[in-house]
Amino acid sequence: MRSRWHVSAVPANNPLEALVFRSRLIGEEERLGLFGGGNTSTKGEAPDLLGQPQAILWVKGSGADLKGCEARHFSPLRLEVVRQLSGRAHMSDEEMVAFLERCLVDPKAPRPSVETLLHAFIPERDIDHTHADAILSLANTHHGEALVRKVLGKQLLWIPYLQPGFALSKRVFEAYRRQPSAQGAVLEKHGLITWGPDGRTSYVRTIRYVSMAERFLARQRRRARGVAHGRPAHSHAEATALLRQYLPAIRGTISRRRKVCLTSWDSPDVLAFVNTKQLLSLARIGPATPDHMLRTKRLPLIMERSSRSSVAVSPQALVRQLERYAAAHQRYFLKYRQPEHAMQDPYPRVILIPGVGMLTTGKDATETAMVAAIYRHAMAIMREASRVGRYTSVSERQAFGVEYWPLELYKLSLAPREAELAREVGLLTGAAGGIGRGIAELLVDRGASLVVTDLRRQEVEALAQTLSRRAGRQRVLGVAMDVTDERSIERAYDAAMRAFGGIDFLVSNAGIASV
Ligand code: ZN
Repeated sequence: MRSRWHVSAVPANNPLEALVFRSRLIGEEERLGLFGGGNTSTKGEAPDLLGQPQAILWVKGSGADLKGCEARHFSPLRLEVVRQLSGRAHMSDEEMVAFLERCLVDPKAPRPSVETLLHAFIPERDIDHTHADAILSLANTHHGEALVRKVLGKQLLWIPYLQPGFALSKRVFEAYRRQPSAQGAVLEKHGLITWGPDGRTSYVRTIRYVSMAERFLARQRRRARGVAHGRPAHSHAEATALLRQYLPAIRGTISRRRKVCLTSWDSPDVLAFVNTKQLLSLARIGPATPDHMLRTKRLPLIMERSSRSSVAVSPQALVRQLERYAAAHQRYFLKYRQPEHAMQDPYPRVILIPGVGMLTTGKDATETAMVAAIYRHAMAIMREASRVGRYTSVSERQAFGVEYWPLELYKLSLAPREAELAREVGLLTGAAGGIGRGIAELLVDRGASLVVTDLRRQEVEALAQTLSRRAGRQRVLGVAMDVTDERSIERAYDAAMRAFGGIDFLVSNAGIASV
């Protein structure tokens, strides 16, 4: 991984703008984390209400994405007050949230990250926390501590797994006090922290340690050539035929509680993972970092084949597998629940189908794409970790602690309210004409996902792009379709099925009336 630091581009004399600059560099690097994972901070001074200088900690707001972040995504806190907490022995999450809220210099600022205390306690000026793939590939192994020491050296502290919050922040602070020369810490089964006296040092340390881990993993990969690749994938046509059977059954079952979109993925890395012989042993262990569970849940559903491995299961058998998954989630919930918990949707977010690929679920194709991106990184981490050791993850109890953690679920509550036709998928014919365009705009504005079809491909693709920009989400797919040609209709429906999982309504607008 290359450092993208350019001295000339760093905003001078403004600690918050410099933090935004650095945070964006980190956020743009997908191998460091995705969609709100990770957080950054800086310490500096700003005038208080009376114009007196006051020490401030700027830390990322909870749930904000480092990619493309702006100054308004950071929370300014009274550092001297927050720091006092390091002297306490215990603090509950509720106390911590309430306390930090009252330390905000700007009452309209976002709620600060759940990892704020860690940023406050460590006295270094700049701190970066990421869920870097390469670091997790080392730290999520049975001998993670020894491996991290061997590959990354002694300047990183090793912190055994603890859920984020007061106790973890204190643990890292105590380790730092024992070794103040440390450049950062690896959090077991969670991620990397680096720090330094300035933003450049902290950033460069992240890049350096991630690069060291990546180089080590690349060497192991070259050595491990010749590993068995498992069963071959189906052809695209065979996979499409299977999806035609499966998707209505899966979408119908999962949508009983709340309608979902389903998107199919079959890129080479996805097929390599679902076809490997290690699939069952790897994908049933747990998340690569607890933060992923917010989008992917703890485990995917791995479609089981019938006893004769060449025969795909029937849609009915697949529905039974989905119900077994939901029942298992309910048992997991009942086993660990506390009075304040309410059960989340028990159905899977990620479905792995050997030979075919991966399905992800969500309210629309933007969300299914987020789930897929996260799980593809998790797949890479599992494969890399299993090459250098035995892949490990948090325990079931630890997973529940994060999956049902009110502070984690809070991030989901930041999503805007859903529109009238959200989660509905329509197909519109004759979309390129004036009336078609008008119908499309109306449906998209009301929240529907839409397949816009017409004779000319360029026209519908351009229309889909315009409408997606209007929606601010990936909710529109443009497909060329001739309503007088059955093959063309089949192809358009297959494209709709792969993008959204199926169709709920049809607007037959193309002029096919014989006069
Ligand atoms: Zn984290």
